Amino acid sequence: MAMYVFTFQEAAGKGKELLGGKGYGLAEMTGLRLPVPPGFIITTEACLDYMRTGELPPGLKEEVLHHLGWLEAEVGRKLGDPDKPLLVSVRSGAAVSMPGMMDTVLNLGLNDRTVLGLANMTSNEAFAKNCYRRLLSMFGDTVVGIHRSLFEKELQVVKERQGVAYDTELSAAAWDTVVGKFAEVYEAHGKSFPQDPYDQLWEAILGVFRSWNSDRAVKYRDVNRIPHDMGTAVNVQAMVFGNMGGNSGTGVAFTRDPATGEKVVYGEYLFNAQGEDVVAGIRTPKPISQLAQEAPGIYRELAKTSERLEHHFRDVQDLEFTIEDGKFYMLQTRAGQRTAAAAVKIAVDMVGEGLIDKEEAVRRVTAEQVERLLHRQIDPKAEVQVIAKGLNASPGAAMGAVVFEPDEAEEAAASGEKVILVRTETTPDDIHGIVAAQGVLTSRGGRTSHAAIVTRGMGKPCVAGCEAIQVDYEKRLFSTPEVVVREGDVITIDGASGKVVLGEAPLVEPQMTADFKTLLAWADEIRSLGVRANADTPGDSRTARELGAEGIGLCRTEHMFMAPDRLPLMQKMIMAATKEERLGALDRLLPFQKQDFVDILREMEGLPVTIRLLDPPLHEFLPNLEELLVEVTEMRTKGEDGEELAGKEELLRRVRALHEANPMLGLRGCRLGLLYPEINEMQVRAIISASCSLKSEGVEVLPEIMIPLVGHKNELAAVREQLEAVAKEEMNLAGVEVQYSFGTMIEVPRGALAADEIAEVAEFFSFGTNDLTQTTFGFSRDDAEGKFLARYLELGILDANPFEILDRKGVGELMRIAVERGRTTRPDLKIGICGEHGGEPRSVRVCHQLDLDYVSCSPFRVPIARLAAAHAVLEEKGRLVEEIR
Ligand code: ADP
Ligand code: MG
Ligand code: MG
Repeated sequence: MAMYVFTFQEAAGKGKELLGGKGYGLAEMTGLRLPVPPGFIITTEACLDYMRTGELPPGLKEEVLHHLGWLEAEVGRKLGDPDKPLLVSVRSGAAVSMPGMMDTVLNLGLNDRTVLGLANMTSNEAFAKNCYRRLLSMFGDTVVGIHRSLFEKELQVVKERQGVAYDTELSAAAWDTVVGKFAEVYEAHGKSFPQDPYDQLWEAILGVFRSWNSDRAVKYRDVNRIPHDMGTAVNVQAMVFGNMGGNSGTGVAFTRDPATGEKVVYGEYLFNAQGEDVVAGIRTPKPISQLAQEAPGIYRELAKTSERLEHHFRDVQDLEFTIEDGKFYMLQTRAGQRTAAAAVKIAVDMVGEGLIDKEEAVRRVTAEQVERLLHRQIDPKAEVQVIAKGLNASPGAAMGAVVFEPDEAEEAAASGEKVILVRTETTPDDIHGIVAAQGVLTSRGGRTSHAAIVTRGMGKPCVAGCEAIQVDYEKRLFSTPEVVVREGDVITIDGASGKVVLGEAPLVEPQMTADFKTLLAWADEIRSLGVRANADTPGDSRTARELGAEGIGLCRTEHMFMAPDRLPLMQKMIMAATKEERLGALDRLLPFQKQDFVDILREMEGLPVTIRLLDPPLHEFLPNLEELLVEVTEMRTKGEDGEELAGKEELLRRVRALHEANPMLGLRGCRLGLLYPEINEMQVRAIISASCSLKSEGVEVLPEIMIPLVGHKNELAAVREQLEAVAKEEMNLAGVEVQYSFGTMIEVPRGALAADEIAEVAEFFSFGTNDLTQTTFGFSRDDAEGKFLARYLELGILDANPFEILDRKGVGELMRIAVERGRTTRPDLKIGICGEHGGEPRSVRVCHQLDLDYVSCSPFRVPIARLAAAHAVLEEKGRLVEEIR
């Protein structure tokens, strides 16, 4: 027969799944001989059985009664004994912590008779009656379903009539009145409070079981992606009383500061208080630091206990303790939640203290936490008014005046005002408003809603699905049950924590602390995947290097032509009627290009730099067709003619000639260089001559020349032949020999499939997974993200945005094929990825599994990639251990 009930001693060594987190902590603490009031655990299995059948599992009652008998003997009091009643708490406790989501009943065992026994036993009538009314309200709320606030209202009336501010000031007689009123609340609901303590016990146990499926618990699990099929355990524990007078109290503490990670016991306490009083906000609790003065003995005991628990669990603990008449008791321990900054500091400190090893430290910090540290965030130490919490849809913090209409966001931004766009949800029609806003707040939709996808793409903060707010477009306001925020009011949102704050919250800029650097250095020791950055300027290159990049995996050259001093030359080159004219313009661009490469290669001294030759279609460098058309038409209608109009008309002709039905699949990438070889030649001249001059200065350079959008071996072979000749020429001219390599991007399916042939000509591959995703799905990215992807996600057709998280099944498979075929031809083929996926943790893991040599991502994602690459190794190790077992 199944065993459903274990004393805290018996439960030692059983897992959290079975005991729930609270029971597990109590059992471990009991095993450590810490002062834990005795009790027993009814397992999650009993809860699951109950939920399946709707009845208490057979034998459970007997087991509970048996353990209750043991508990009575332990404490020396009996449940329901009118003279010396045993009181217990009945506490919920799921395997995964769900703070405040489920329910607990304290002081169970009191009734109209035993309350007098408790009063006698403690010679404190007011205390006993106060306990009784707590039981009445907690039982009413948890078990009977009468909302807490109805009891609180009655208590408030009595307190006002007595002219007192705090519960502790009420007399025994006043408590009698309260108890009477509470009984009336039950009556008003057609209920009565069960006087039989055994009835109380059974009903409370069932109440806790049922609280697993309460609306708020279900909601909480949905939001936090906790499975619904785990159930809760029930802990029945002898009561200890922190509300027995000035020599008693209760508190909560963290073994280290959860905001900063500093190694000090941190928390709050109240004397003469029970359970929830500390967090209920009725009386203001005192900081733990004050306990050292007020009760040094207790403080020492708390500090010693913290230390022992940290040693035992090898992690920061979040504790509850109670002092009964000067005696210290532990009531709860669990791993403490912490900020990202604290997580890093604690992990590093604990290695120093010998509590954990480096691998464990790296394992404990999540990529999400590192991401937070790399974005601006609301100062975790600041006191701010959080009015609501939504989903952390796109990290970073932003503040601004509330606007509801995208058009108004645009106008406000145009006049220099900072705004936050607040909508129930966004649609493709709102894009201009999102672009203009500092950040976006929506009341509906998840992490894959339109607002979430679009803002993440733009690197803009977003809190989505914030159901606590009601948006009223007509009245131009949004409200929570507590506050009303009108158009123009300033709010701050934090897209990493999901917080919405009223007013301007202090923000902290991202920073690399010494601990953060240490942790990343440990990650570097673990990972096998290289990490490079995508950088187009010397400034970005420096940032990338500082953040730990081991090279540049993608240096795009198109931005270099967009600079205001070069664009006219570029346009002239494109407009050139003859080859001579074109060469003339290119000759003037060459020195600029050379300088660009000198600066970047110097910055990246000793590290490889992959330079991609011009990729986008040429018309991107010319004015927009529609705008030009309007301009020319206006000039014609006004009857203007002459040189200016002729010039514009010529430009229009050229733009039209270059115009493509589908530029994404048109004359771009390597096709461009094959049609206009002089562009590629100029770029290679610049790269090689820059490298030669640096080398003669003694600077070590490792340039890698990369050709985009290759699908056929012959494309690459033709370009290579042409460019190698140019490189040779430049080296001869300079009288210097530089090592460079020649490779290609793999970003169309044919390129991946024909990788064996392409590798004959390429020394390296770099997966351009942005284009590869577009061409594999046949989605144009801009159209997909603007128009239909959000709907696809909503409908569950896709479960992630493939432009954000690498599509393992399709794109990943093409990559696998390319790696396999490429390396068959050329075993030392170097393979990397330079699409945006290179900085996304799940995609980094895939790259590790596909055995790439490196990932390359934007500089600010380099630390994330370093950590994710280490996690991929640790995960693999974990899996290996399991396979051996
Ligand atoms: P939660 O999960 O909401 O924190 P708990 O089961 O921990 O619920 O209990 C709520 C409060 O009651 C806590 O402050 C806890 O310390 C206190 N409490 C629980 N059991 C006892 C007990 N046996 N004696 C004294 N206080 C208790
Ligand atoms: Mg608790
Ligand atoms: Mg591309």
